[in-house]
Amino acid sequence: MGKKSSKIGAVAVIGGGITGVQASLDLADMGFKVYLIEKTPAIGGIMAKLDKTFPTNDCSMCILSPKLVDCGRHENIEIITNTEVQGIEGKPGNLFVNALKKPRYVDLELCTSCGDCAEACPISLPNEFDHGFSERKAIYKYYPQAIPNAYIIDKEFSLDRLVNLMDESKQTKENLNNFKLNNIDFIVVDNISNLITPTTKEVNTKRSIIIPG
Ligand code: SF4
Repeated sequence: MGKKSSKIGAVAVIGGGITGVQASLDLADMGFKVYLIEKTPAIGGIMAKLDKTFPTNDCSMCILSPKLVDCGRHENIEIITNTEVQGIEGKPGNLFVNALKKPRYVDLELCTSCGDCAEACPISLPNEFDHGFSERKAIYKYYPQAIPNAYIIDKEFSLDRLVNLMDESKQTKENLNNFKLNNIDFIVVDNISNLITPTTKEVNTKRSIIIPG
């Protein structure tokens, strides 16, 4: 059962990493209607990619997964994935958030995440969640514990790479969906972390060390 509370206002949380997820849960528990906007197909962010966390060496997914499930079940939280914010208008207490939503091509309500489609899919593509170290199918789940727990079809990639039967730009434009969230009281932005690529460089001590590149 999802948690219930009477609504006292509306908040847009931009970014579905651990910061956005925790902020959404806290605000939703306080009674705010929360719109959690994430540009990838699932919430979780960088923490979903980590094995252990510093300094306690705790399992990253063991901390994150219950919060993702709580977010998915909370009646005051609306998770809006595959969506990028284009602009914000208005003033605190009466804000308008313009966003662009890419299509999933899979019905969130109907997908049981059985994986049969991915097994049958003949198209393999680099898996961006693993930064290209593995492959995924053209229909795929962003990562095994993903919330929303549903598959998505990568039509742009498959059209671009393999099929070339349609006018890709027309297809993409037709399926993008602009929408506006109205009467938002305030906005929380979770956008501080980025993975870095370590590179080996010589430094003055004549030793080779790993530093962020
Ligand atoms: S879209 Fe794929 S994972 Fe979802 S129910 Fe259909 S076959 Fe199963």
